Amino acid sequence: MAQAQAASQNDLRNDFALLIDGELTVGAGHLDVINPATGKVFAHAPAAGRVELDRAVAAARRALPEWSARSFEDRTQFIKRMAGILRTNQDALAELLTREQGKPIGQAKDEIGRAASQSEGMAQIPITSELITDDAERRIEVRYVPLGVAGIITPWNAPINLAAGPLVSALYTGNTAVVKPSPYTPLSTLKIGELLRDVFPRGVINVLAGGDELGQWMTEHPGIDKISFTGSVATGKKVMASAAGTLKRITLELGGNDAAIVLDDVDPKAVAPKLFFAGFVNSGQVCMAVKRIYAHEKIYDALCAALVEEARKWTVGDGLDAATKLGPIQNRMQYDKLVDILDDTKRSGARFLAGGDVPQTSGYFFNPTLVTDVDEKSRIVREEQFGPIVPVLKFTDVEDALRRANDTRYGLSGSVWSRDPERAAAIAARLEVGTAWVNQHRTTAANVPFGGAKESGMGRTYAAMGLKSYMEPRVISVLKQPL
Ligand code: NAD
Repeated sequence: MAQAQAASQNDLRNDFALLIDGELTVGAGHLDVINPATGKVFAHAPAAGRVELDRAVAAARRALPEWSARSFEDRTQFIKRMAGILRTNQDALAELLTREQGKPIGQAKDEIGRAASQSEGMAQIPITSELITDDAERRIEVRYVPLGVAGIITPWNAPINLAAGPLVSALYTGNTAVVKPSPYTPLSTLKIGELLRDVFPRGVINVLAGGDELGQWMTEHPGIDKISFTGSVATGKKVMASAAGTLKRITLELGGNDAAIVLDDVDPKAVAPKLFFAGFVNSGQVCMAVKRIYAHEKIYDALCAALVEEARKWTVGDGLDAATKLGPIQNRMQYDKLVDILDDTKRSGARFLAGGDVPQTSGYFFNPTLVTDVDEKSRIVREEQFGPIVPVLKFTDVEDALRRANDTRYGLSGSVWSRDPERAAAIAARLEVGTAWVNQHRTTAANVPFGGAKESGMGRTYAAMGLKSYMEPRVISVLKQPL
């Protein structure tokens, strides 16, 4: 395992603030933030209570008339400045992100670069009104108007990217926002709030750290019109139930149990590095990570061998160490869940191709683990593991592989791999998911809608489809005959 580095890592930092109405402010309490590579508290973040939430919502409402009256072009310029600020501060933000989230520093930089480019991409998508009829008698058009104040609730696996997507969607379409990061990873989002303080008019962006209860208060708050929630299926269901009280619009980006189906004609050595990356990047803590690999019996042994070869290359360690490819699990709760799944998989008699043991350190490290001969009903196949342990399952008949891939309440994404992209595309189109990839996995773009089928979500992010979910369609129907 790579050595942990950076002597200053355990220095307690307190220089974080909430952003409310253009002011940096303390909260009602504080959150202890743990560096998952050490298991120790390294910073404190302010935590908002109901009073701070009310103030943030009131500020966002005050800022709304002026912000929503601006043109799309005008708002695009603000978002370009925001992307510029993310890039200028990429190194410092990446270090902070690695300390609080655990991911290797290179992946942290990639996350920030991606947040910047996706933001710019979204702010170039035209939102136009639709003319339904325009004849001598009548004109009927549909215009899209901002919903109002958006509440944005994010998880701990990619805090910057998963805040930037909904935040830019909300702002570009004329809404104002209150952003709440996960209590496990509040720091980089708070820092971004601070950096954006002088870029946007006061009250347009408000950033509140806080516990789970703050998220719930946001879903209940009568001053919030839309909730964008990214997180687990279980919490997503609570968000939907709670938002029903005020009939808030919701976008739910939830968990997944993505299958990758590998057909009989692939070159296993060429496919293995791509599959491994899609399963293990960010230590598997990615909603659309490959979480089950279904491999045709013809290439099964060769693919397993090539995946094991990949696993050997992925050094586990502190994300600040340049040699690290696999950082720690982000938090103790998730780490304990993975150890439970590991024990359950061992008990079920599965065969371990790689990993299977857990390093004994104070950090939440977990070796890259590949398992086979797994019971299809075992937890590692049925549940979203959200970690660096992936089952490789054998199939003979493509119909059977499709049935097993679809036999889940999840439906985020999936992929099919083949030398023949058209053959693979016909199979991929039958996956019950929001996104079906061929010969790739985990590829998203600002102009392509992303989101889950079944219990993996509600609505879409990105593209005009995602942006319009922050807007209300308003029909203007004009009878042209004078009265
Ligand atoms: P989580 O559901 O525990 O928490 C997510 C956020 O919700 C946090 O900010 C939390 O404080 C808040 N929250 C908790 N209880 C709440 C409540 N009752 N009301 C409102 N907010 C509440 O999820 P997590 O463990 O932080 O994230 C991991 C999950 O997120 C995984 O399942 C992963 O697949 C999913 N995820 C999905 C996507 C996607 O785009 N589909 C992307 C990333 C992560």
